[in-house]
Amino acid sequence: MTVRQPRLLPVSLLVLLPILLLFPVPQSYAADEVNVYSARKEQLIKPLLDRFTEATGIQVNLLSAEAGALLVRLRNEQRNTPADLLVTVDAGNLQRAVEAGVLQPVSSEYLQQVVPAHLRHPDGLWYGLSMRARVIFRSRERVADNAINSYADLADAQWHGRLCIRSSDNIYNQSLVAAQIAHQGVAASESWARGLVANFARSPQGGDTDQLLAVAAGECDLALANTYYYARMLADPAQHATASKLVVVWPDQDSAGAHVNISGAAITKYAPHPQAAIQLLEFMLNESSQQWYAQVNNEYPVRSDVAASEILKGLGEFKADELNLSKLGENNAAAVMLMDRVGWH
Ligand code: FE
Repeated sequence: MTVRQPRLLPVSLLVLLPILLLFPVPQSYAADEVNVYSARKEQLIKPLLDRFTEATGIQVNLLSAEAGALLVRLRNEQRNTPADLLVTVDAGNLQRAVEAGVLQPVSSEYLQQVVPAHLRHPDGLWYGLSMRARVIFRSRERVADNAINSYADLADAQWHGRLCIRSSDNIYNQSLVAAQIAHQGVAASESWARGLVANFARSPQGGDTDQLLAVAAGECDLALANTYYYARMLADPAQHATASKLVVVWPDQDSAGAHVNISGAAITKYAPHPQAAIQLLEFMLNESSQQWYAQVNNEYPVRSDVAASEILKGLGEFKADELNLSKLGENNAAAVMLMDRVGWH
């Protein structure tokens, strides 16, 4: 014989019930939730979403997948999508979503105020959440201070066989080339990229961290990588000594500034809960979320009034390129073709 336990109401509901009876709530309140499609690693977003739920009572459902897969999904789902907010990395990926017609513009005074103009889409189709720079790392031992100062220098023949960089499939490199195209046009960018390829120490392989490790191991003398990969090595006691064999070089400080990119977010065109999604987006850009974001992955906050992590501060101040990042997406196809023509595979 089984004895059925009486079902108990959750404590929170017991507390809320008298209040709910006193104040009739609009129907939508009960259904308040927001669905997030995210290309970020779960630990780089989930704690923030949990805090949002704590603060607002709005439930967040998270689907994590690779950036390309999420875009395919949004394209296929169209009006039937459950997704409200798309979170992804690289303005190139955000712009692909713009071109696929799966985003809607958001005009929020708050967002326009806290996100610098170059780190958001001109029409509010996406907003930067965190910033990273893609810069040069030199061997402390084998490359003298001031021997290299710019992206242009990377193409100089003195670096023949000394540069490690990942493949052209990677959107970070595509966006770097897209920025070059925005600044100097296709022809000049192509001859630059040709010089770069001529300086490769090996055919491109691995991710950004692998390029840094290759410099530390003496396989090459220069590498290009995003700042957070280096910061992560510095923060890891097991890799700190290896990271110390490298020095960051902030390129183009007398001209356009170091190439930067973002992780960012956008409201989907057919978002079932657009208001809650905007609320979440604004939450991700409030001061304490930005602080959290800056610490957890050593990315730069997009807000100028929020400090970077101690590790990033240790890398020094730099001038960032203020090219509007939508250009990276607009020039993506041209960049990919250019890289193919110069044999950057
Ligand atoms: Fe990355």
